[in-house]
Amino acid sequence: MKVQLLPSTFDAQGRATLEQRLTCFLIDDCVAVDAGSIAIALDSEQRSKVRDIIVTHPHMDHIASLPIFIDDLYPTLKQPVRVYATSEVIELLERDVFNWNVYPRFSDLKNDYGPVMEYIPIPTSGEFDVAHLKVTAVAVNHIVPTVGLLITDGQSHVAFSSDTAETDEFWKAVNGTRQLDALFIEASFPNEMAKLAEVSRHFTPSSLGKELQKLTHNGMDILAVHLKPTHRDTIIRQLDELNIPKLAVMNPGEIYNW
Ligand SMILES: [Zn+2]
Ligand SMILES: [Zn+2]
Repeated sequence: MKVQLLPSTFDAQGRATLEQRLTCFLIDDCVAVDAGSIAIALDSEQRSKVRDIIVTHPHMDHIASLPIFIDDLYPTLKQPVRVYATSEVIELLERDVFNWNVYPRFSDLKNDYGPVMEYIPIPTSGEFDVAHLKVTAVAVNHIVPTVGLLITDGQSHVAFSSDTAETDEFWKAVNGTRQLDALFIEASFPNEMAKLAEVSRHFTPSSLGKELQKLTHNGMDILAVHLKPTHRDTIIRQLDELNIPKLAVMNPGEIYNW
């Protein structure tokens, strides 16, 4: 399985920078997990392939350019863009984003070929299909309804925490998989900002270190994501100090394979 964290910021020469302001993972060039930078960082081949997007929660950094992505493709779509989310999240997207004020309600619109956007409600227990992948969603502990994801292509298994603070169900599901190749885990704030991390339900390196003790799998790659750009260097230093084997920070733009 090929996983890429799309970049969200570019320098004056157009090169991707390491700061991660928006969240969008791309799996096998065709399935997106969240859609923060989907309209700004896909190459044209990826743009022609991605029609399945899983939205873990409706925070802006995870959906910022989803409306623009559908808008860009609008006249050319021969099949709808499928947005997979829990029914709670779908309701919030319809109420707060695709509401004719912030942007058009694409789920009501058709082009010459048919509907341009389709919601697919996902269960919060049990497996569902997304393109060639099997996905399990598990509610995590964030300030809006949010799911973590376990995803397999039948050979490799990866897990995405999405945005969360301390949680148990997700780890139960992760520990229940027979094999785990990679875990993408959030580490948003430096230890000095523990109070803000707590009220906004995110991890610091310190709280993440404690949380990872719930993980019974050993040996998989653990990639930290969602580092607040202003504090990136401090968070990286504090993650290093945890001395957890195979824990690294995921680089936006880089292609990872399992
Ligand atoms: Zn969030
Ligand atoms: Zn976020």
